[in-house]
Amino acid sequence: MKPSIKVLVLFWLLFAGNAQAFDFGKLEDKLKTELPVNPKLVEAVKEARGPDEAEEIAIGRQIAGNLLGASPLVKDAKLQKYVNRVGEWVASQSERPDLPWHFGVIQSDDVNAFAAPGGYIFVTLGLYRLLQDEADLAGVLGHEIGHVIRQHHLKILQQSKLVDLGGKALSKEIGGSDKVQQLIGSGAEIVARSLDKNAEFEADRIGVVLATRAGYDSFGLPGVLQQIGHFAKDDGDVALLFKTHPHPDDRLEKLGTAMDDRFDRVKGKTLEKRLYRIKP
Ligand SMILES: [Zn+2]
Repeated sequence: MKPSIKVLVLFWLLFAGNAQAFDFGKLEDKLKTELPVNPKLVEAVKEARGPDEAEEIAIGRQIAGNLLGASPLVKDAKLQKYVNRVGEWVASQSERPDLPWHFGVIQSDDVNAFAAPGGYIFVTLGLYRLLQDEADLAGVLGHEIGHVIRQHHLKILQQSKLVDLGGKALSKEIGGSDKVQQLIGSGAEIVARSLDKNAEFEADRIGVVLATRAGYDSFGLPGVLQQIGHFAKDDGDVALLFKTHPHPDDRLEKLGTAMDDRFDRVKGKTLEKRLYRIKP
């Protein structure tokens, strides 16, 4: 169709009806009768909206349960309490302080950490043993908190449609139904899977900012990354981490550019003596 004809047709559509076209009251009635609500459209809108916070937390709780089924919490109540205290303090600096945050150290020699939607965060024993002070822990937890507040994993779950984010199955049957468990079962695999590189760099930046806001030395996370970078590439303990995250050297480079010299004058605390030491 020639552009001039298009304009004509448009003009006709807009104005050539009759005066009624401008009576919005009647127009609304007309729309209601002639355009019944399309259920597919309603679902699509819901899906685009994503899950609400209660759904997000329910999804995370299931995934966390599955993770703990594979690698249980280290049986050291003082350690778990300590990690929760530090984690909650760092998370309280974020834009989602009111999520029901949970932190834990899990039984695994791997060097890694995981975040599930809704505020469930786990550090492996292998990674915990690398920490030198509380600022290191704050930085590591800050990175994972960054994944949660930016909903990095939730977005992947949503895209992969592993979870019915229309919410019906979840909100009504959560906890009990096998079907829901089945849907989210693969979620544990998802939180251990690679995210987009930029999501990792973003989580690093957030980790540094949150730890600094919480009063810690800003260089905790970079310090841990440096240590992890020293592992041999074929070391089994870092295999999964190296597979799912950009190499620590790349992360350090990006973080260095982002931090520039802005953190140099901030005098945060390292709290070396306060780090809870696990008996060897
Ligand atoms: Zn990460």
